[in-house]
Amino acid sequence: MPNPKSPTNCQSCLMPFTKDKGVRESEQYCSYCFANGKFKYEGTNLKEFQKISYQAMLSHGTPKLLAKLLTFTIRFAPRWRK
Ligand SMILES: [Zn+2]
Repeated sequence: MPNPKSPTNCQSCLMPFTKDKGVRESEQYCSYCFANGKFKYEGTNLKEFQKISYQAMLSHGTPKLLAKLLTFTIRFAPRWRK
């Protein structure tokens, strides 16, 4: 089991940190989810977050089908798991 203190995927959107092209501020979250000391999306609505992530993925050139799949898996991220 990987050390939960230094995950290899974003704990909010599950994106692998190796795919993160930005500058990461947090050990837990990618630069898309977390910047300037806070979450970019501060709400608690998973569906809304998924919608935002989906649009972000498309704008980064992710193919639609892959973006849909990745968006679906966000619900399993530690931030959203109940
Ligand atoms: Zn993220």
